[in-house]
Amino acid sequence: MGQNFGQEVDCNIPPAFDGINVNCCANPTCKNFLVAVKLSVKDKNYSLTGKGASRSIKCRSCGKHYNLKSNRAIAEEVQRLNKTQVLAHIAAQDGTSCSNSSCANFGIKIVDFPHHYRKIGFTPAGNQRYQCQSCGKRFTFGSRKRISHPQTKRNENSMLFKMLCNKSVGQRLTEITELSQPTIYRKIDMFYERVVEFMARREAKLPSLDIDWLRLSVDRQFYNVNWTSRKDQRNVVLSAIASGDRQSGYIFGMDVDYDPSINLAEVQDSVEFKKDLNLPPYLRNFARIWTDHDYDQNVANKPNMGAIADSLMDQMIAQQIDIPLALPEIEKLLEEYCFKNGLELSAQSSDTKLPTNGALIHLEYTMYAHFIKLRKLLNNVNRLAFYLDYESGIDRALLTAFPDWVDNGRLTALYVSADKTLGTHKRQALDAVTKRKLEQMVKKGEARDLLEAAIITTMDYIDKPIQLRKNRKDIWYSIPIHRVFEANKYVCFITDTSDWKAEWKAARAVDASLRTTDSFFNLARRRLSSLERPILGRANNGALWDGYSPYDPHQVEKMIQILRCYYNYVLPSKRDGMTPAQRIGLAKGAVEIRKILYPRLS
Ligand SMILES: [Zn+2]
Ligand SMILES: [Zn+2]
Repeated sequence: MGQNFGQEVDCNIPPAFDGINVNCCANPTCKNFLVAVKLSVKDKNYSLTGKGASRSIKCRSCGKHYNLKSNRAIAEEVQRLNKTQVLAHIAAQDGTSCSNSSCANFGIKIVDFPHHYRKIGFTPAGNQRYQCQSCGKRFTFGSRKRISHPQTKRNENSMLFKMLCNKSVGQRLTEITELSQPTIYRKIDMFYERVVEFMARREAKLPSLDIDWLRLSVDRQFYNVNWTSRKDQRNVVLSAIASGDRQSGYIFGMDVDYDPSINLAEVQDSVEFKKDLNLPPYLRNFARIWTDHDYDQNVANKPNMGAIADSLMDQMIAQQIDIPLALPEIEKLLEEYCFKNGLELSAQSSDTKLPTNGALIHLEYTMYAHFIKLRKLLNNVNRLAFYLDYESGIDRALLTAFPDWVDNGRLTALYVSADKTLGTHKRQALDAVTKRKLEQMVKKGEARDLLEAAIITTMDYIDKPIQLRKNRKDIWYSIPIHRVFEANKYVCFITDTSDWKAEWKAARAVDASLRTTDSFFNLARRRLSSLERPILGRANNGALWDGYSPYDPHQVEKMIQILRCYYNYVLPSKRDGMTPAQRIGLAKGAVEIRKILYPRLS
């Protein structure tokens, strides 16, 4: 019966898949750290607790509980985030490589590896035909199919691209460009394909770059996809996770928890789905996606974010506290409220619904896949420091993606939290006080520079643990260095620092910040009209609805990737005239949009 060594196999534990196994202890100070749970009933390291959906493993060494996850679902999500389908579509259009995603030659370009392909004559139009030596697939090189759909007013594509990244909305876009709405949407599709291919090509060079270390902020942002019917005004809420390099500002990922390629109705008609109904979530065939059944069972009792936000505002008004006007700040407030009160900040509630097309992905699976993808890109970087916004399970998702990195000290991880309830002027005042204090220390010769002064000041605080979150055991430290963008900062070390000197801990705590992702998220809200509205203010939805928030959740993903490309590669910063890609070493200068849209194929 497939049982090994006479042990009874426990079919209720998800097996490893594609080298992925996250069902293990994720506590870096525990002796069972990253030791996978065995598929046998007898495991000296773990015991199983709970029944059905809430079944979890309990580490016998440190006593922590971990929910079981489907490793297969994580592998599927990694596949999706690699955008294999989009890349296959582009390869088929361009004819630059085999477009069969399961072939060894997939993505292997003719121009780089001509002997992987065989020339098989020409099309009537005179284009070269090739055959893949590995899978036998035949295709035409440079048939220029990709150009056919956006051919109309091709010269205006760069302009349209820029306008999209500068909050130009539908009506104005058609007015200025004199392009019809459907043409604009076709062009957006083409832009999306090109930026995906462009960034994949550039980021593939990351492993060959000589990078000593990166400090990455990790956070997520929510998006409200408008309701399409006046009868049902519940919104679809998506979120994207991103990691941003503190030094260069380069943004990795912005991975949205939405899969456009899935037909939920078809899924729910399938035999596999019927079987899933009797299985716990982590053993399901469709463990990765939110099904109607899932949604009905899980979101009804979730706190309604809009309602919490509204009551939070009411309280602030009653106490005459300044209410931040910038929407991203309000969103942060809400996050902080949930965090401090031990509430799970869930985007899905009784006030939201599943998308009509495609499928919403369980965010945790997108998170696991985000880090696995990041590990592949950054595999040759010497050291990494991660600054995470607190999120249930994010530590486990990060640490399991980087096995071996933690024990040999290559990876350090911290949670960062800052007080967003402070108004701008209070933050400015705190910033000024900090600056004055640090400058005095330098003047008195107590520190060589401001950074050293900040570290010395922080050292007094880094051994005074505080409890920041209700009913939680995690240990936080208050950091006395206030900045306008991050005041009243707290950090919590995830990786083991027991053998660290106080000044090392202080240095990490001073540097820890979510600023990189924060700035990009603000940019996304400011620059993309479709993402303007955060998930708040139900009452205003009708009034704000201008018909141009995307009906189609896929539009969110497309616009985010277009903006990520624009921000990383096209737009030089006012500070040093460089782009993030240039600073990290993925570009020599600002890249022209036309070079992204019309790359040389041969
Ligand atoms: Zn443990
Ligand atoms: Zn092939």
